[in-house]
Amino acid sequence: MLDPFGRTIDYLRISVTDRCNERCLYCMPEGYKGWAQRPDHLTAAELVRTAAAASGLGFRKFRLTGGEPLLRSDFVSIAAGIAALPTTTSLGLSTNGTRLAPVARELCAAGITAINLSLDALDADIYHRVTGGRLADALAGLEAALAADFEVVKLNVVLMRGVNEDQLVPLVRFAAAHRMPVRFIELMPLTRTDVLSPANFLSCADARVRIEAELGPLETLPDYRAGHGPARYARAANGATIGFIGALTTTDFCETCNKLRLTADGKLRPCLGRHGEIDLLAPLRGGEADLTALLTEAIANKPADHTFQADYQPDRPMTAIGG
Ligand code: SAM
Ligand code: SF4
Repeated sequence: MLDPFGRTIDYLRISVTDRCNERCLYCMPEGYKGWAQRPDHLTAAELVRTAAAASGLGFRKFRLTGGEPLLRSDFVSIAAGIAALPTTTSLGLSTNGTRLAPVARELCAAGITAINLSLDALDADIYHRVTGGRLADALAGLEAALAADFEVVKLNVVLMRGVNEDQLVPLVRFAAAHRMPVRFIELMPLTRTDVLSPANFLSCADARVRIEAELGPLETLPDYRAGHGPARYARAANGATIGFIGALTTTDFCETCNKLRLTADGKLRPCLGRHGEIDLLAPLRGGEADLTALLTEAIANKPADHTFQADYQPDRPMTAIGG
């Protein structure tokens, strides 16, 4: 379907939970209490039903995110239900990887095609400082993902000046050695204020300069895509494929937006960087939901661009919306 700005919307990102076993500096709100599986979170059947309605509108790409999706005990059935929809061509999972190792093959068999694994550092102390978790657990998950038969495994790295900027080149080298793309993401003003100071912000352009200083000039790949996200890619001389997600500094960032989001608590969200949401939970539970009409309304409400800088709302955490 086309939105009011002529963009084809065929990608649904679904937050299956706002719970997480990590506490990333830029993601988890201080004192956040939403850890229990809550009754206002969509059930597996409700998630698959919503995805099926999206499929009826021609959605082809789905991604399961959170929170940490693998904390849901019914995750495999959600994945299998969406993978089985007739239009599904790609079903991604965004994960911190720490719970991935034992289930990677099962997820692949259930129909997950692509893994985005968050890895902000290769130094265990920095990793722990950023996430509160153990680097070894994330690396075990990554190893299992690479050994399974997924079509794509990518790394996601959030850029933070003074926190992980000396990790960028090691991460590029690591990604090249494992022949997987690495994507650097600008810090977005979601959830927590304390890490969102200009002092912590590292732009994609600055990250590129740092990488080029050590690895030589990057070759920009204007037409290259490694999935369905907004990254712009470049290639390093060592063969690394590097994606830059410059949500705050890329002026035409929203021009190719192709997605809707479904939050863990059943709201359709036309844009990550604007706070308008359409409730789907009450109609679903009330037995009168016209999901096709609600999805169509969400597409009709997609804004031209985000308002990250101007409209920060810390009470709507990234974990609930789904990054
Ligand atoms: N738990 C999973 C993970 O960490 O990959 C999936 C959910 S997480 C919210 C999805 C992605 O959003 C991760 O790559 C994470 O680094 C990114 N993210 C979270 N908060 C962010 C922020 N404030 N700015 C930029 N990226 C952020
Ligand atoms: Fe959890 Fe992912 Fe958020 Fe980190 S980025 S706190 S791993 S949901």
